[in-house]
Amino acid sequence: MASSLISTERPVIVAGAGPVGSSFALFLAAKGLPVVLLERNTGVTVDLRASTFHPPTLDMLDNIGMTQRLKDMGLIVSRYQYRDRRTNDIAEFDLSVLKDETNHPYRVQCEQWRLSQECCEVLADMPHAKVRFSHCVTGVINTDEGVDVEVETPNGREKIRGSYMFGCDGASSTVRRAVGIEYEGFTYPEKFLVASTPYPLEEFLPRLAGVNYVSDPEEWCVVLRCNDLWRVLFPTKPGDTDEMLLSDAYIQERLHHLAAKQGDYVIGHRTLYNVHQRVAATYRMGRVMLGGDAAHINNPLGGMGMNGGIHDGVNLAEKLIAIHEGKADEDVLGVYDRQRRITAQNFVQEHTINNKKLMEEKDPEAQRKRQAHFMRTAADPALAKDFLMKAAMINCVRDSYAIS
Ligand SMILES: Cc1cc2nc3c(=O)[nH]c(=O)nc-3n(C[C@H](O)[C@H](O)[C@H](O)COP(=O)(O)OP(=O)(O)OC[C@H]3O[C@@H](n4cnc5c(N)ncnc54)[C@H](O)[C@@H]3O)c2cc1C
Repeated sequence: MASSLISTERPVIVAGAGPVGSSFALFLAAKGLPVVLLERNTGVTVDLRASTFHPPTLDMLDNIGMTQRLKDMGLIVSRYQYRDRRTNDIAEFDLSVLKDETNHPYRVQCEQWRLSQECCEVLADMPHAKVRFSHCVTGVINTDEGVDVEVETPNGREKIRGSYMFGCDGASSTVRRAVGIEYEGFTYPEKFLVASTPYPLEEFLPRLAGVNYVSDPEEWCVVLRCNDLWRVLFPTKPGDTDEMLLSDAYIQERLHHLAAKQGDYVIGHRTLYNVHQRVAATYRMGRVMLGGDAAHINNPLGGMGMNGGIHDGVNLAEKLIAIHEGKADEDVLGVYDRQRRITAQNFVQEHTINNKKLMEEKDPEAQRKRQAHFMRTAADPALAKDFLMKAAMINCVRDSYAIS
């Protein structure tokens, strides 16, 4: 086996300090590998995106000391619901049926930026790790010795030499474009609106759990608890302007339609998102690998984007550590591509596209049948476990490692 390319002079370079890049960098640094994390913004991006951490992700993050931190900062949610808005029928799934399959048989609800921030803080104290904010990757090329990365910094342009690169610089990834990888798939015509409120929605919607998927032929929504706020995600109509969709009047109307109360809601955050279903044609070009939203993107119904991205990072970190320790050669990087790309294509895309179709079902009879199916499944521990092994992403992580 050849000696490792990874050294202090040629660290592993990570583009993007989102949840995927920052946790990946910490996985490597925790094993003593030199790593440089480059982030174009002046600090960690604080926005209203992922908040659900699934059980296998919590198992993985435990290895870098992050699970307890997420639990301290967030909310443990053991039960979640599929509700029919017209009939108030509730199917409630109890994640404790997974207790023999995971050390964390629950979801943790915590904003994704808190994970990135915690990882960056730990990395900043490690001598062999460098976190560089205001460093924007503008290009990368594979060389015989590793990778050459071009970066815009506050002091001008720099070239950083590395051994391998992990591009987790989000959906519009510069790294993906620089190495010429296609991003195949489609974008939905409608945007999703997320608004938060401190108002106690549980007083209006009886038995509300920490996570609720609410179906309705006219307006489905997702209601999630995150610390001291309820977050509500609504679909919007294609063609409506961003200005209108983000206006107070529109958000008040949506929230009152969900739970009619006297007076206005206090609105915390509000954000509008484009929704895509895409998977990169390959996750590997030479010594440049892709992960997270740079490699795959899907609608947020089921909470699989960030979780799948963190699973990418763990899978790649294991392989780079094996290469560094002389236990594997670079062919395992091709295995990384297959294991993670095929999982995104075959499981995550199918599951999330299906979730959206079910949530927005217009035919009341089809929706009644779907709700009845959820209620039967949730009431039977064996069926519920079978369902949750998929929905909580345990099966897809295990199945990914079976791909060679
Ligand atoms: C409304 C909503 C709800 C969601 N809920 C969930 C959920 O509950 N669970 C879940 O698993 N997923 C969820 N997702 C998806 C999740 O937010 C993404 O999958 C996740 O952010 C991907 O993380 P990432 O680190 O790959 O990319 P990002 O979070 O996009 O981070 C990329 C980072 O790269 C930086 N960057 C970009 N370009 C460069 C460059 N050229 N040089 C250096 N740095 C660069 C960016 O500034 C950013 O900090 C949700 C998404 C939305 C929109």
